[in-house]
Amino acid sequence: MKVTLPNGLLDGQDHFNVVIIDELRGKQQNYLADRTLIENNIGHVPKILDDMILSLETKEGVQWQGNKKEAVYKLPASDIESLLVKIRENTFGPRYYFDAVCSHCGETNKGLRVDLDKLKVEKFTVKKMTDVAKRTIKLPKSGKTVVVKPMFMQDMFDSLKIAKDHQDELMTNIVALSVQSVDGVTEGVQDVVKALPLMDIYHIEESMEKMKLEGHIDTDVQIECSHCKKEFESSLNVYAPDFFLPYQGIQEYEYVSHEDDLLGDYAFFGQVWRWPPESINEMKWSYRKKLKQAYRDHVATKDGKK
Ligand SMILES: [Zn+2]
Repeated sequence: MKVTLPNGLLDGQDHFNVVIIDELRGKQQNYLADRTLIENNIGHVPKILDDMILSLETKEGVQWQGNKKEAVYKLPASDIESLLVKIRENTFGPRYYFDAVCSHCGETNKGLRVDLDKLKVEKFTVKKMTDVAKRTIKLPKSGKTVVVKPMFMQDMFDSLKIAKDHQDELMTNIVALSVQSVDGVTEGVQDVVKALPLMDIYHIEESMEKMKLEGHIDTDVQIECSHCKKEFESSLNVYAPDFFLPYQGIQEYEYVSHEDDLLGDYAFFGQVWRWPPESINEMKWSYRKKLKQAYRDHVATKDGKK
């Protein structure tokens, strides 16, 4: 199956945004059942992508000659999500059935259907990808200039690793993953970000929420509750291993807005209260947001900023 990515990979003059994918076979089923991969949350994802991507090419058909694994790690989140959706579609067809809990009355709506080939994809042009001015932030306190970038698959894994191994430096390290350069320098970004005033760090986070850094695949599904008849939204969790089970649906969680960052929340709550990802999955997005705000206020008061 031929897939056009929302973003793709830029290499010099070439834009590799067309991928030819295979379907899942017995070998990949082993990844989905491998507990050590699943415990790392998304460990099965790069293995599946590495097997499934038969060719990465430009729209003119020029093939990527480099290391395929490296290419996958350089793709932004929306490209990874598009590929996972298309792999599911190529394996079991476009119809996908799932259950979703109504956010108004708590009723579980069963056997809901979404057609994976109808999900809206918003493409990011090369012009937008290379427009550095739109990704540049002037910091209010230090006066430094920061250029930010989308989260690539490598960054998703790094953020999980940081949450696990470097809890003491978690917050600044997570922000640093989105920073491409500070005052034009790309080396040692982690240390530079660590030394920034807290006000500047918050400014980076706030500015990034308003920025568009990559394309998008819309995995939000609108549902009318069979019980209370009200509308609610549910997001497909394409990173969950059970997304690839033939008859099993999604892991349900309350509507997650596009600005919301579940991986970031794993890291944040893991650091602050040592909560495991499973318990964060169970929390409503609005509740997580409230807790984060309360924590920020608490820190701000402690630092005498308020
Ligand atoms: Zn309802």
